[in-house]
This record gives sequence, structure tokens and C-alpha cells, in this order.
Amino acid sequence: MIQAHPPTEALNKPVIELVDLHKIYRVGTELVHALRGVNLTIRENEYVAIMGPSGSGKSTMMNIFGCLDVPTEGEYRLGGHPVARLSQSQLARVRGEQIGFVFQSFELLPRMTALKNVELPLTYQRTGAGDLLKTLIAVPRRIGGAIVSLVPGGSGQVNGQSSDMNPRTMRATEALRRVNLLDRAHHRPNQLSGGQKQRVAVARALVQNPDILLADEPTGNLDSKTGEEIMDLFDQLHAEGQTVIIVTHEDAIAARCKRVIRLLDGEIVEDGPTARAAEAAKAKPVTPAPVTEGA
Ligand code: ADP
Ligand code: MG
Repeated sequence: MIQAHPPTEALNKPVIELVDLHKIYRVGTELVHALRGVNLTIRENEYVAIMGPSGSGKSTMMNIFGCLDVPTEGEYRLGGHPVARLSQSQLARVRGEQIGFVFQSFELLPRMTALKNVELPLTYQRTGAGDLLKTLIAVPRRIGGAIVSLVPGGSGQVNGQSSDMNPRTMRATEALRRVNLLDRAHHRPNQLSGGQKQRVAVARALVQNPDILLADEPTGNLDSKTGEEIMDLFDQLHAEGQTVIIVTHEDAIAARCKRVIRLLDGEIVEDGPTARAAEAAKAKPVTPAPVTEGA
């Protein structure tokens, strides 16, 4: 069977590059070597699982990917740019706009509705004319149709009339639609199941259209069936072109990704395609490698 498939991720642009990267924490007089000379490239639209025992450096690596922490030695390049050369304000911008984070414990604000939680990252930045324009470009087909009317309490107009819904609300609404949770937009976290809470958290991570989605044990607090549903969502985002990086302890979760990187004591001990990726590659017509023989 030959599947229609985007060009292999192996040819895409690098989004994340680590070059001989070390992270050393100092705790009192003791030094903890959390990452020991990691070399790694992750390309656009890759779907990566990071595995390894507790304490092996997974979260440290994710924090560096997300510019929440800086390496002690070596280089981190994000989208081809050395992160160390960014100013504080550029860094804040990168964190806000290029990276989406999802955590094991959801980290939703309990007093806010799902919609308000998703809007939150947008309220920390200017929502000027440029953003409004982006929103109008991003969601025009939604404004006149179902999306506005599907949000109970939304203030937008339907039937193709211009919407008075504020641009942040429109973007948050679009993000909730992407995670199939529009019907819970006005519920608070305690009125949602664990899987629904995590979908709200994914929507919040997506609301700025980040280049990279980072999820640190996103299914760790969910039963296996709900975990699979969250993986269905990550599958969908991968198919839409999103770069997705997930930390997990569970083989069944990692098997849903296309590449697995294993850490042990701060070093990469294994890095390769999953069986699923091998299947997908088999299904595609393969250009044979040139044969080079000594004769
Ligand atoms: P994992 O996510 O794989 O469980 P971490 O990246 O959290 O591992 O931790 C790697 C190592 O670095 C561990 O030995 C941990 O104790 C240590 N570590 C992590 N964060 C800090 C910190 N902020 N200060 C000191 N040591 C830390
Ligand atoms: Mg961790």
C-alpha cells in the first residue's frame, strides 16, 4: 500500500540543534552533571519521544529546548539561531511565540474557564493590529460559521457578519477547536475530566502557533485509555505539520511517535526510528541509495 505522505521529515529544516551540550547544576558544594555532551538535531515536523529512567536528564533537556534554562557548556541552536546570542527580550519572545509547553499536571488556573485558560498566553503580550490581522487570516472561515455560534456566551456575530469577539478570544476558540473541545469552552477545570484538562492545556500551548510543542510526561496523570486519546491528538497535530516532542516512561506512548531518544545518566544511549516510522517508510516509494563498489 502506498500512502500519500508529506516529504520525509529527515529532509526538513532543523528546528533544534544541540552541540556538545552540558548542563551542570551546583547544589551546595556538590556538582550534578545532568547532561554530558549531548549532540542532537530535531527537524521540522518530527514526532519524537524522549525516554530514560528518572534522573537521566529528560526534563533538563526539555527545559533547555524551551529556553527555560541555559546550558553550562556547548551550544543550543533554535531554528538555526544560537540561543545564547539572544537578548532577554528576544528570549522572552521566543519562549512565548515559538514554544508551546504541556505538563504532566496540566497547570490550569482553577478559577478560569477553559477558554480563559487558553487565552492566558495571549494576555501577556500586546494584541495590536498585527495580531488582529494574523487572527483574521488564520480563522476567516470560522468567523462566519459554526465556531462563533458553538461557543455559548461568545459575543461574536454569525452569518458572515463581522465579529465583535475580541481577537484573543477568537484565537483561543480556534485552539479549542483544534483539540476538539469547543463544547467545554465555558467549563472550569474541576468540571472537566483529566483528558479534557490535558486537551485544554494542549490548546493553551498551541494558541500562539508555536514552532515546537514540548510535552513533559503529558499522559503521566491519565489512565491508559485517556493517554491514548491524548496521543490521538498529538498524532493529528503531527499530521498537520507540528513538531512534537514528548517525554514519556511508557513504551506504548513512545511507540506512537516516530523517533525515540533514550537518555541514561545525561547521555544519549539510543536514538532511532520507531517500528511505526519504519512501517511508514516502507509504505513510501524509496529512492535506492547509489551503489558504490570498489571495482
Ligand atoms: P528526569 O527528568 O529524567 O527525571 P532531570 O532532568 O529532572 O531528570 O534531572 C537530571 C539530574 O539533574 C538529576 O540528578 C536531578 O537531581 C538533577 N537536577 C535537575 N534539576 C535540578 C536543579 N534545578 N538543581 C539541581 N539539580 C537538578
Ligand atoms: Mg522529569
